Amino acid sequence: MGDKIAFLGLGLMGSQMAKRLAEAGNDVTVWNRSKERTEPLAQVAAVAATPASAVTGAEYVITMLATPQAVDEVAFGGDGLAAALVPGQLWIDMSTVGPEEFCHAAARLPEGVVAVDAPVRGSVPEAREGRLQIFVGADDSVIDRVQAVLAPLGPVRHVGPPGAGASMKLVVNLALVSSMVVFGEAVTLARVLGLDQGVVMDVLGESPIGPTVRAKRANVESSSFPPNFKLALATKDIVLVDGAAAQAGLDLPVAAAARVWMEDALAQGSGELDFSAVAATIANQVVETVEAHEAAVCATG
Ligand code: NAP
Repeated sequence: MGDKIAFLGLGLMGSQMAKRLAEAGNDVTVWNRSKERTEPLAQVAAVAATPASAVTGAEYVITMLATPQAVDEVAFGGDGLAAALVPGQLWIDMSTVGPEEFCHAAARLPEGVVAVDAPVRGSVPEAREGRLQIFVGADDSVIDRVQAVLAPLGPVRHVGPPGAGASMKLVVNLALVSSMVVFGEAVTLARVLGLDQGVVMDVLGESPIGPTVRAKRANVESSSFPPNFKLALATKDIVLVDGAAAQAGLDLPVAAAARVWMEDALAQGSGELDFSAVAATIANQVVETVEAHEAAVCATG
């Protein structure tokens, strides 16, 4: 038998990750706020009734929750995990929450309990296949343990002391969300200029935003956005980026513009769709003018 792991948060990502850890031979106990999401895991993991009971006796406690508020609730709310932790246990928070939020939670743990931030890059397919890139902020003294326990989920990169993993994730997601917004703007501009959409997609697929285009082309072409990474969560991330920049006195206009588009899409009700749905919000603004512009392309005489 491998390690004794408590895994809390069985959303799109967490359900795949918990399953991989259990199938790798670990002794896994899961907890999720909505109980029905524990059912598919019940064959490979034990199911706990509360966060506190999930973590009792575990060597490793892993959380994969939506937002800083969710982490706060699961850790410090009623039957929260924090009060049940004892020295020697390691809490690995893999949620995307930002460095300030992670450090604030870590500072409130009982004496002797170590917290590590380990957010991930990659989405549902990478989680399913153990190909996540994991950014770990941790002291050198625990990194070997962290690397060993997370190995079934993907390569672990030790990026610095506690908080550095959460910081790295904000940096990566500034690039991710902005490139999706650029993709949406580029496609919309192309449309107004009367270009063939298939050719535009091919050309953009070879451009600097190629990985985003190749990953989200099918969604944009079909105007169908089944969630891998929910728009509400991507918006949360760009808001965290904007907040971290503002706190440091930085002016990042690209991040601010990406935030405006994401919040527009959220306000239009796309929060539960994939974040690539921002392309539809961007396209919507010009729908009425497209024909007029197309007619104007190289109009002669
Ligand atoms: P998700 O499918 O929306 O799942 C969110 C999880 O958080 C669910 O287990 C949900 O419980 C729980 N939760 C939300 N609010 C809660 C609260 N107040 N109290 C307790 N539990 C709460 O999200 P996901 O896609 O798995 O993402 C999880 C984290 O990974 C997020 O921080 C996200 O930004 C990050 N991330 C996601 C991706 C991706 O591609 N999806 C990639 C990298 C990182 P219920 O089931 O009860 O709602």
